[in-house]
Amino acid sequence: MPAYLIGIDVGTSSAKTLVMDERGNIVFTIAPEYDFATPRPGWAECNPEDWWTAILAALKAVFEQTDVRAEDIAGIGLTGQMHGLVLLDAAGQVLRPCIMWNDQRTAQQCAAITGKVGARRVLELTGNPVLSGFTAPKVVWVRENEPEIFAQAAKILLPKDYIRYRLSGEYFTDVSDASGMALLNVAKRDWSNEMLEACGIPRSWMAEVTESPIASTRVNAAAAALTGLKEGTPIIAGGGDQAAGAVGCGIIQEGIVSATFGTSGVVFAHSDEYRVEPEGRLHAFCHAVPGKWHLMGVMLSAAGSFQWYRNALGGEEIAAGRAIGEDPYTLLTRAAETAPAGSEGLLFLPYLSGERTPHPDPNARGVFFGLSLRHAKPHLTRSVLEGITFGMRDSLELMRGLGIAPTEVIASGGGAKSPFWRQMMADIFGASITTNNASEGAALGAAILGGVGAGVFDSVESACASTLQETSRVEPESAQKLYAALYERYTALYPALKGEFRALARVMEELG
Ligand code: ADP
Repeated sequence: MPAYLIGIDVGTSSAKTLVMDERGNIVFTIAPEYDFATPRPGWAECNPEDWWTAILAALKAVFEQTDVRAEDIAGIGLTGQMHGLVLLDAAGQVLRPCIMWNDQRTAQQCAAITGKVGARRVLELTGNPVLSGFTAPKVVWVRENEPEIFAQAAKILLPKDYIRYRLSGEYFTDVSDASGMALLNVAKRDWSNEMLEACGIPRSWMAEVTESPIASTRVNAAAAALTGLKEGTPIIAGGGDQAAGAVGCGIIQEGIVSATFGTSGVVFAHSDEYRVEPEGRLHAFCHAVPGKWHLMGVMLSAAGSFQWYRNALGGEEIAAGRAIGEDPYTLLTRAAETAPAGSEGLLFLPYLSGERTPHPDPNARGVFFGLSLRHAKPHLTRSVLEGITFGMRDSLELMRGLGIAPTEVIASGGGAKSPFWRQMMADIFGASITTNNASEGAALGAAILGGVGAGVFDSVESACASTLQETSRVEPESAQKLYAALYERYTALYPALKGEFRALARVMEELG
């Protein structure tokens, strides 16, 4: 009898659900959508019932549109948007809409928690500063602003764990998702009494926390009747979307790092030990691989800078692309290849939306530095790609500073489509750049974790080995030396300009 695994990703805008067989073939995917609301500027809320409705529709589609039978499903792995606050009363009823990861209302609460515990101690305990997206300051916000709701609260769940609750009636979470709450002792992989006390949260409100590939609970009779799943089907703890996504693309041993060149950029490294960047410039979270951790740097405008460039200065390529049926990005990168490595001394700072890693600074802005009469459009294009890649190297250097030695960087996201850019990544990072066939992201990682928890695979490592294949590889070439020297100049620019970014922001605020 074939064994199938279901991976469910409770995402920001859809519930991606996939079915995978025991050899790693994806046999079905579907992603019913839902919305979130912005009741005030900077707020983001959604209704947990909408996730559940979407998941019921997804499971119905699995049984209606495939030959998979409920008794063939070996396990269900869960993942989802991190950091969201789902607040339940003692009867398990949702008390208010979920306050989501991208909600920014809690600046005051973050400062208060940090003041109480001490910035250094927070970093030591939780691996991160208290950030406004994280769950703990949201709970404090509800206490201060909605005391009548807070008085009824009895449980706190993360989005994917609310779905587990609906499927099983039980309260469980996993270490990787729990790491994004500012309430977990990330070194000990258990709740931190010190953080809970500082936030005024009773420990009894917290779900039981386990490692990610653990079958923590099972589908109950009520959920079986609603979904068509078999009662007793194991539900695996799963992971936060970043950790599950990393499992889905094979970032499961030390030395392997991923660099996602999407609109924003993420550099993600597996770590065998608990390592914390002393200034908190990298996120340090528990990984979904049992007993391991991960480090993560986030660049706000990575390939997004190239998109800006295409829109602002690539009108010609957009028109030509339309006429000949070519992607304007391909036309731009083809022309950029005609400029020499290093763009003849032209540097680009990609801080178009401010920056997060390594310079958490909302006032930082984009810069072309070193323009001369020699520079033509191909130089500008090339320097944008180089600047983005230097920005990603910043995260990699922080990781190297903590003792991570990347031997291989797995590139993904839109920027990794370009072979020219991938060679530039190898030269600038000083590491092999590979791509692989992972395309299903966190939902695939959840299904893999599900397979390990259900006993279909022996370990996360063997599951990844049987589901992932390398699709390209490039090694650093001679431009590496020049790029090493230019990277030093690149890193000197932000400190030199920091004060001016602030001064410019002030002028624009007062007079602009
Ligand atoms: P998102 O993070 O929004 O999902 P993607 O991972 O799809 O974004 O990346 C989109 C970005 O990738 C574009 O803005 C562009 O900068 C870059 N990109 C897309 N296609 C190419 C290409 N063929 N060559 C180089 N860069 C590309």
